[in-house]
Amino acid sequence: MAGSLRIVLFGPPGAGKGTQAQLLAERYELAHVSSGDIFRHNLRQGTPLGLRAKEYMDRGVLVPDEVVIDIMLDKIMSIPADDGFILDGFPRNTRQAGELEAALTTRARNIDRVAHIDVPEDELTRRLGGRYVCRDCQAPYTIADGTDAPPCQRCNGELYQRDDDRPEAVQKRIDVYREETLPVLDFYRQRGLLSDIPGKDTVEGVFQSIVAAL
Ligand code: AMP
Repeated sequence: MAGSLRIVLFGPPGAGKGTQAQLLAERYELAHVSSGDIFRHNLRQGTPLGLRAKEYMDRGVLVPDEVVIDIMLDKIMSIPADDGFILDGFPRNTRQAGELEAALTTRARNIDRVAHIDVPEDELTRRLGGRYVCRDCQAPYTIADGTDAPPCQRCNGELYQRDDDRPEAVQKRIDVYREETLPVLDFYRQRGLLSDIPGKDTVEGVFQSIVAAL
């Protein structure tokens, strides 16, 4: 049976949300809903949504709410009412957080916990520069400068570097996070849902801190 926890995984780009979301989804049998993965999937398929999102993603800025909110709420509300989920990359501003709360309230499906993975900025810049992602299963890897990317350990797919992990886009994404996304923390703090997780730790260490917070 699928688990029923409803989790928002929150944190700056490069905090390890994707990695932790995959681990948590397996541990608690939750649907993993990643807004970035949805956009990248659409882009690979060449859909109008994917092409529209790309203009913004490549620059490291947020895709407009008019595009994001409908897509994400459709996806979340299509999950069976008793099943849990983990949101990765959504909500990313206070308007998105408010719309999510309103939608979940109509179905008595509120968020149980928001795990905020906190990582210092210098560490984020370092990590994103070496970040590679599997083309097939989206598993993320960190690869040192000058090393050839090996195949994916999960599915043997090809690893590639995202356009928005180039240095100019990385700095922009961190700035956007600070200005537009950080206020969402107060939204959830006021509701007593927020757990701060120290993110400058091993994957396993961060995972155990999140499990303890849940
Ligand atoms: P991510 O994979 O979560 O780092 O997302 C990659 C990019 O997709 C972001 O830099 C944004 O351009 C876009 N994106 C993902 N989620 C959202 C969201 N909730 N709101 C607006 N844009 C988003």
